[in-house]
Amino acid sequence: MSEFDLIQRFFTRPAPHAILGVGDDAALLQVAEGMELAVSTDMLVSGTHFLPDGDPFLLGHKTLAVNLSDLAAMGAAPRWATLALSLPQADEQWLQRFSEGFFALADKYGVELVGGDTTRGPLNLSVTIMGEVPRGKALRRSGAHVGDDIWVSGTLGEAALGLAHLQGRIALPDDARAFCLSALHQPQPRIALGLALRGIAHSAIDISDGLLADLGHILDCSNVAAELRYDRLPKPSLSSVGGNGLAELAQRCVLSGGDDYELCFTAPVSRRAEIETLATRLNQPLSRVGSIVSGHGCKVRAEDGSVMKLKESGYDHFA
Ligand code: ADP
Ligand code: MG
Repeated sequence: MSEFDLIQRFFTRPAPHAILGVGDDAALLQVAEGMELAVSTDMLVSGTHFLPDGDPFLLGHKTLAVNLSDLAAMGAAPRWATLALSLPQADEQWLQRFSEGFFALADKYGVELVGGDTTRGPLNLSVTIMGEVPRGKALRRSGAHVGDDIWVSGTLGEAALGLAHLQGRIALPDDARAFCLSALHQPQPRIALGLALRGIAHSAIDISDGLLADLGHILDCSNVAAELRYDRLPKPSLSSVGGNGLAELAQRCVLSGGDDYELCFTAPVSRRAEIETLATRLNQPLSRVGSIVSGHGCKVRAEDGSVMKLKESGYDHFA
């Protein structure tokens, strides 16, 4: 199969909202009147972000999902994507399943694939995602105010526990294994939440490197500090497991585990009721986990009010 057959067969789809999609030297796109273009790139590298023998359908999903998560964190509506692929060989079955996983999620959010690049090399998957947000309305990392509540969507730490299980570091019981592996392989980008938070949240970020690390970016960009309540954090239900160091690992995963793709956002206390209504309307659990305070850094308090001592903050590729 030639490079052009491969692109034609697996990655050429109609793009009705583009002026020009796949097939020329560049795509042509028009942003709607009054909108800004939000652009983000996320790359998945075999061995670093996924295991090379993983299910290609799930990999197609995740490649797009991690990018959609960035748009969710900006409050942007997904529109277009480009896909740069480096492949060790043109494995038709693999490409078929990968593209099915990719387009299943793309169709769900109305994302049109409008271009990309395809080369031979170590397996490497890179998406550039583009979305629209009304002028001036994007949710930034820099908007947190002293006194804001800190909120988190969904559950934290499941994906990191799923990875620990796959790596043989722990053995999860059947029920927890199912939801932890699903969190790892099929993260659900919180697009509807991001859109609904426009005009409500002061700041937002998606949690890809762990809550402490990603909230830390909000704190740095906004020049504020945070106090979190450990008992309020949304934790995986691992009630059937005790002992063998799992409780301690679970605690670390909740605070610092990667790959959650939940949203962390801050909002004024006056918007609490609205945010709770939003959680019900979107059927999206939201937890109020702490407050923005003045100063520097992040404290996590245990139920008795004492400050917890923490070993690590989050995932860093170069640390
Ligand atoms: P050029 O040599 O001009 O860079 P290419 O031969 O790399 O063009 O690509 C031909 C067309 O196919 C371009 O429109 C490009 O955007 C698109 N394309 C290449 N690879 C992919 C891919 N993996 N997914 C979607 N579109 C792709
Ligand atoms: Mg090219």
